[in-house]
Amino acid sequence: MSDFRTLVEVASALDAGTISSVELTRDVLSAIADAKSLNAFITVVDERALAQARVADDRRAKGLAAAVTGIPIAYKDIFCTRGVRTTCGSRMLANFVPPYDATVVERFDAAGAVMVGKTNMDEFAMGSSNETSYFGPVHNPHDPNRVPGGSSGGSAAAVAAGLVFAAMGTDTGGSIRQPAAFTGVSGLKPTYGRISRYGMVAFASSLDQGGPIARSVRDLEVLFGVAAGFDPRDSTSAELAVDPARHKPIDALRIGLPKEYFAALGDRRVAASLDTARRWFEEAGATVIDVSLPNTDVAIPTYYVVASAEASTNLSRYDGVRYGHRCEAPQDLEDLYLRSRSQGFGREVKRRILTGTYTLSIGYFDAYYLKAQRVRRLIRDEFVRTFADVDVLLTPTTPGVAFPIGAVSDPIEMYQQDVFTVGASLAGLPAMSIPCGWVDGLPVGMQLIGPHFGESLLFTAGDAFQRATDWHTRRPGRKP
Ligand code: GLN
Repeated sequence: MSDFRTLVEVASALDAGTISSVELTRDVLSAIADAKSLNAFITVVDERALAQARVADDRRAKGLAAAVTGIPIAYKDIFCTRGVRTTCGSRMLANFVPPYDATVVERFDAAGAVMVGKTNMDEFAMGSSNETSYFGPVHNPHDPNRVPGGSSGGSAAAVAAGLVFAAMGTDTGGSIRQPAAFTGVSGLKPTYGRISRYGMVAFASSLDQGGPIARSVRDLEVLFGVAAGFDPRDSTSAELAVDPARHKPIDALRIGLPKEYFAALGDRRVAASLDTARRWFEEAGATVIDVSLPNTDVAIPTYYVVASAEASTNLSRYDGVRYGHRCEAPQDLEDLYLRSRSQGFGREVKRRILTGTYTLSIGYFDAYYLKAQRVRRLIRDEFVRTFADVDVLLTPTTPGVAFPIGAVSDPIEMYQQDVFTVGASLAGLPAMSIPCGWVDGLPVGMQLIGPHFGESLLFTAGDAFQRATDWHTRRPGRKP
């Protein structure tokens, strides 16, 4: 049976001894088995999970439990897990069993969390609907005919369906926030560099950032506390500690509404949900002001040039030689590369490799890649200047609610899904999506963006909102 308690609630049940981690893990595994039709998981590791749960129960009995000890969680199938297949949603890695753990996995293991499995995702994290996965689409728990968002769609669906208490996802241009919004859960993309990228399969290295998906902001804060921290194995890992001084009472908070984001919001009902949230913040004593981010409309093209360029170089390692898919009976080296890569990658990944290679080629580099880098700088500077006046920005997470599976077939239209999320990614800023409304039986998300390393401000604002509202506690009505 699905379990919709928050991670914090379950941790206190474990502390009180009303349930053991082994019992909890058994329940979670059977709920996952019952919800197979959602296709949220690529791999489930029953035996391994129960073994971890037994160790966690022992640890708790000795009085050594940490905040997540004994709690069943899942990882997006982009995090390397030693001895457990890590596919990245691709045929290319369908049989890849990593010889090492990602730092994120190591940290949760050390804290005693229980890994129940690896969640479905868009191939190599490229997509906004989970439809590019080699392992098939994930269904939105609120309506199985609709997408859960992407690329961390399996992670968000698993949390929304009450199958796990949390899942770790990754976000390059919106892949934690957009699926969180589409499935009615909370998701945090931390500041670039907060959470180690070591052992996370690379998509666009200057943008990739891991982060938690859970059912409350308090849970996100706990998970962030476990996952974040300096890692010498990631060259862009930040050495900065979480700064509690940046926690602010809600009535001292200055919230900016970027007018370009709201002007671009076509769906009036989504706009109305956002407006209710804004009014709540005002009534709680926050100062809400209009701000302007004029470069918002160039964020999408900039993101798709930068991300695809980086993807084209990162994915050149899949050559059929060292690891990954290899074609049958290659005639020569050229044939081996050609057929292994043609067979191993899906359409969207190929599209990114082609466009990325194009923008990096001689003659086009200055016109596309270099220009995009310059615009990226302008976007970043614009955000930084705005944070001199406000503590957080409040925006919609997505232009609309979850769309039907198969409804968006044009790639450019799909890229437009990221219109509100790629800005914070290009600027390296922390950003969170939390539920703030309901349209046609489907959840609406709002995004809170903070200054660099200002996650505490997001936790303050998001937690205050969730204490006063119940959007985040609404469950999927229909059985998948
Ligand atoms: N939808 C965006 C893309 O396809 C973002 C993906 C992500 O954040 N990993 O690139």
